[in-house]
Amino acid sequence: MESLIDTLSRAVRGRVSTRPADLARVNRDGSHLHGCAWATVVPKDQRDVVAVITWARRHRVPLVARGGGTSLDGESVPLAGGIVVDLSGWDRLLEVRVDERWARVGPGMTNLALQESLAPLGLFFPPNPGSWATATVGGNVATNASGPRSFRYGPTRAWVRALDLVLGTGESVRWGSTVAKRSVGPDLVSVFVGSEGTLGVATEVTVRLAPRPEIREGLLVPLEPTARLGAIASGLSVARGTGLSAVEYLDGPSAEELANLDRFDRPRPGPLLLLEVEAGRPAEAARRVLRTRRALRGCGVRSRPQVFEDADALWTLRGRASVALDARVGERIREDVAVPLGQIDRLLRGIRRIADAERVPLYLFAHLGEGSWHPNFVVPPESAKAARVRSSLLSTALALGGTISGEHGIGAIKPRFLGRELGRPGVAVLAALKRACDPDGILNPGKLYPQEGGDGRSSRSPSGSAGGRRPGGGPSGARVPA
Ligand SMILES: Cc1cc2nc3c(=O)[nH]c(=O)nc-3n(C[C@H](O)[C@H](O)[C@H](O)COP(=O)(O)OP(=O)(O)OC[C@H]3O[C@@H](n4cnc5c(N)ncnc54)[C@H](O)[C@@H]3O)c2cc1C
Repeated sequence: MESLIDTLSRAVRGRVSTRPADLARVNRDGSHLHGCAWATVVPKDQRDVVAVITWARRHRVPLVARGGGTSLDGESVPLAGGIVVDLSGWDRLLEVRVDERWARVGPGMTNLALQESLAPLGLFFPPNPGSWATATVGGNVATNASGPRSFRYGPTRAWVRALDLVLGTGESVRWGSTVAKRSVGPDLVSVFVGSEGTLGVATEVTVRLAPRPEIREGLLVPLEPTARLGAIASGLSVARGTGLSAVEYLDGPSAEELANLDRFDRPRPGPLLLLEVEAGRPAEAARRVLRTRRALRGCGVRSRPQVFEDADALWTLRGRASVALDARVGERIREDVAVPLGQIDRLLRGIRRIADAERVPLYLFAHLGEGSWHPNFVVPPESAKAARVRSSLLSTALALGGTISGEHGIGAIKPRFLGRELGRPGVAVLAALKRACDPDGILNPGKLYPQEGGDGRSSRSPSGSAGGRRPGGGPSGARVPA
């Protein structure tokens, strides 16, 4: 192993490390999984990324690109060992065109740092995941991340214009362009977004930007436990003149744990709706808040919203809901399904039935306006019970016309369920794409693609997680030197 890593140190100009502290940092992400990296490399530039990939192809060594390491399904955990390509230092804003509303960004720039750099220019990058302080733009792209503002602005996929990539073949390519529109066949930029580091390494991201509203008002709305959440989601989606950019939900137990952690000022205990109203001037903001209140009354919500002056602080707080459960509730599975708005109430009944049948405590939060739900079932993630809960939940979401992942991705936890959503032809298209971009299967093996024969119903793994037990993988799978 030592001599193998020596050859890597000679092949690249960037820093190669086998220090235990560096390895420990990259062996974890936001999931429960643990990896077994052999070394980390901080490439100096794009040429260095080519050198790492060429070296990895020659030696058939797994490579995992890494940004902030906040993914929740093991996406950035090196389960098959190998080398972690740490891009978190590639954190510069390279160029901004205010007239054309785009920015070229180093993939390791954090989402929040990008927002802070753009604010003085009157622009912003709309996806704002709860992890925005540490998650990187490269990671947002590779997971197609969303955030509260995706209610109005959509997920990351809608905001990427171009990508500079080194594919798993070692070839450097630029997919997309800075132009506002293109029609040149299926969109390769979209294909890369959400590919979880399995096709190539993004060395530069060109993002589309939106004009930053002058005023963003956060509203905290206490709800009755019996509130009709489906009606609220649909009602707020069609309400006119509200300027709503975010419609979020925390159930009573989640709000309680968050308040225990962060002691924020809230109207009263119980479930909460968290809204953001955008406006150009104070008078317009006041009008829009009034219209929002009227729309809420139309959905049966009579309580008075509490204004949260700093909307960004509201989203940072909301992002800590998961941290609060980590601190206070511990081991659990954090799920991530989405359904059409008209099916929200059925999904909720299904979720509660599953929790009751398995006798597991449940914490729920949601990007309500998008039908995107995060049920947190308090159950050891590797247990047979967790596997049953997950399987039933994903089947329920699919039966309601939804998806097995609204935003967190597939990672190492859901590959065996991919076929349930995409069907055999869909999985075959993805596998062909993988072969074209990464013929040796060196990039992030064990993630996203089902293992041979993994149709979502026949795997022997109780949780569907690779969990460090199944090295290699992917359509071809890197060899793992001893
Ligand atoms: C507290 C908390 C709140 C969260 N809230 C949200 C939320 O609201 N919405 C949401 O969508 N997600 C959320 N997440 C999940 C996570 O933050 C996102 O998936 C985020 O986009 C990951 O970014 P990252 O930089 O941490 O990526 P990493 O974890 O480092 O990597 C994620 C994936 O991207 C790949 N990757 C990273 N950089 C590159 C690159 N340059 N080129 C190619 N591939 C690359 C990795 O190989 C891996 O497959 C949350 C997570 C936490 C812990």
